[in-house]
Amino acid sequence: MTNNSILSHRKEEPENGILYIVGTPIGNLNDISQRAINILKNVSLVACEDTRQTKKIMNKFNISNNLISFNEHNSLIKIPKIIKDLKEGKSIAIVSDAGMPGICDPGEDISRSVKSEGIDIICIPGACAAITALVSSGLPSSSFVFEGFLPKKQINREKILLEISKNEKTTIIYESPKRLRKLLKELREFCGGNREIIVARELTKKFEEHVGNNINEVVEFFNNKDIIGEITVVVRGIKKGDFHPDKLIIKKDLNDLINAGLSLSEASKYLAKRNGLKKSEVYNMI
Ligand code: SAM
Repeated sequence: MTNNSILSHRKEEPENGILYIVGTPIGNLNDISQRAINILKNVSLVACEDTRQTKKIMNKFNISNNLISFNEHNSLIKIPKIIKDLKEGKSIAIVSDAGMPGICDPGEDISRSVKSEGIDIICIPGACAAITALVSSGLPSSSFVFEGFLPKKQINREKILLEISKNEKTTIIYESPKRLRKLLKELREFCGGNREIIVARELTKKFEEHVGNNINEVVEFFNNKDIIGEITVVVRGIKKGDFHPDKLIIKKDLNDLINAGLSLSEASKYLAKRNGLKKSEVYNMI
């Protein structure tokens, strides 16, 4: 089968020589499809991010199969071997620790490499924290931006925060519980405290929680609390037509200052002072 083949009429699964990207639960182990179970049972081997995690699913559904580890540390060595196995006619499933492989998880590189060898890939869809958080947030969900984890380097981080602050689309962000407070404060600084936001915690699990409504309220909610569990943040886009008369001038000034060597934070601070505004208001304008 080639890259351009039509995959509408499939034989019994799994087929030889195919890479299956298999979505697994993000918490509740019952969120796995019959099709995923069948694939995990019957492929030649299952490549998993962490064999211990995948064994939990395998045990729950009485699946036994060959597991190999496939993660960011060994992917360079493992990808050629997986491609060789697929070319020899094996069927292989890729799973990550939770959710959809390739979404902030191993899977992206292998898909690209396997595709470029003309080998077919079939996705067995499953849970994804981003989509689960988005559709339960009540925020506009037909058009959205998925940022994954924001960059750690401050300059890159501020660039994305700035984009979020002016985007009309809903943004989805992954964050660790340890860094949630920092992220919320940054979002408040860039988007203003009134921006609508939902923090989804422990989706599909026993202590699932959806905290809203705006950034100020959410900052307050998580203040002085031990934050644990897995977190996805959904931020509403800016309302269409939300426009400040000085926006274009300040934006131009800001660009000029950044080109002259100031950081985004320094430039905003300076412009805020000069225009009698709060730093967050400068961010918001642009
Ligand atoms: N591949 C996964 C997916 O499809 O969603 C994402 C893997 S990424 C390494 C892990 C991050 O996803 C977590 O740090 C958290 O931000 C988010 N996440 C995963 N499970 C979650 C859950 N049950 N509730 C909220 N967020 C979750």
